[in-house]
Amino acid sequence: SIPLGYFGGIGAASRRGILFKGGNFLDALANVKHVVMDKTGTLTKGVFRVQDVIIRDGLDPAEILAMVNALESNSTHPVATAIHDYVGQVDQAIRLDQVEEIPGHGLKALVAGKVLLVGNFKLLDQFEIMHNNVDTGDIPYTVIAIGYDGRYAGHLTIADEVKPDAAAAINQMKALGITPTMLSGDRAIVVRAVADTLGITDAYGDLLPEDKANKIKEMKASGSIIAFVGDGVNDAPVIALSDVGIAMGGLGSDATIETADVVIQDDQPSKIPVAINVGKATRRIVW
Ligand code: ADP
Ligand code: MG
Repeated sequence: SIPLGYFGGIGAASRRGILFKGGNFLDALANVKHVVMDKTGTLTKGVFRVQDVIIRDGLDPAEILAMVNALESNSTHPVATAIHDYVGQVDQAIRLDQVEEIPGHGLKALVAGKVLLVGNFKLLDQFEIMHNNVDTGDIPYTVIAIGYDGRYAGHLTIADEVKPDAAAAINQMKALGITPTMLSGDRAIVVRAVADTLGITDAYGDLLPEDKANKIKEMKASGSIIAFVGDGVNDAPVIALSDVGIAMGGLGSDATIETADVVIQDDQPSKIPVAINVGKATRRIVW
């Protein structure tokens, strides 16, 4: 039978907009030593704004952007929303075939028989498209590269903002003796800038979904109880691997919310230490 304290804990959490799918996760959170977080949509707003567009000489920027926008209309990734907000309505005359979303990389499709790629430089590498002459500089922006017809066609720089309560959330976790860690598929330079803003020492960028999973496995192998907090489609496997998988409910995909053990409905990172405190208080009542 379920001890009465668990119902109290689950209720107390739910009144704070935190849904627990079982009392066992209250226990696990009470003992958690590492909170591993995704960057985009978890610690940052996940609302990108296009800063700059650079299209290679000889290509029509409007034409390239229209194709990119059409391709991104197949994705729910925050990057897709930024591009849609910038370019505007999708040109229905553009025909895309074999549209594919490659997790942690971006999108691929055929346009009139030519391969169009939109994503990070790893995606271009995968299709052996040269881009090493492209200088994206030291600016802490996310770079979305475009490959078209076997060549580098240009890139967009996009920027996101940290959530207003993210720094406080990190400080509260540290005060509870927890080590915060950030894992991201974004460029290392962007990840470092966000980590420095928030006071996170352990931060890793350029990670594929499987790299994130391996990182969690490593941490678990050292005997630590791990909570992972994420938002995106790509986070479902990592959430499943963690002792406690926490999803941001507002931005989160259905798959992520389904897999999660705990859902933070209003997407505020400050609810992470609140959930941990409810776990600790509940344990005191039960035992
Ligand atoms: P994060 O860990 O920051 O949430 P993701 O694993 O979701 O990152 O994505 C990693 C990177 O892959 C993004 O920073 C972006 O460069 C690229 N990417 C993913 N999805 C898309 C998309 N729909 N369009 C363009 N680029 C994408
Ligand atoms: Mg993500």
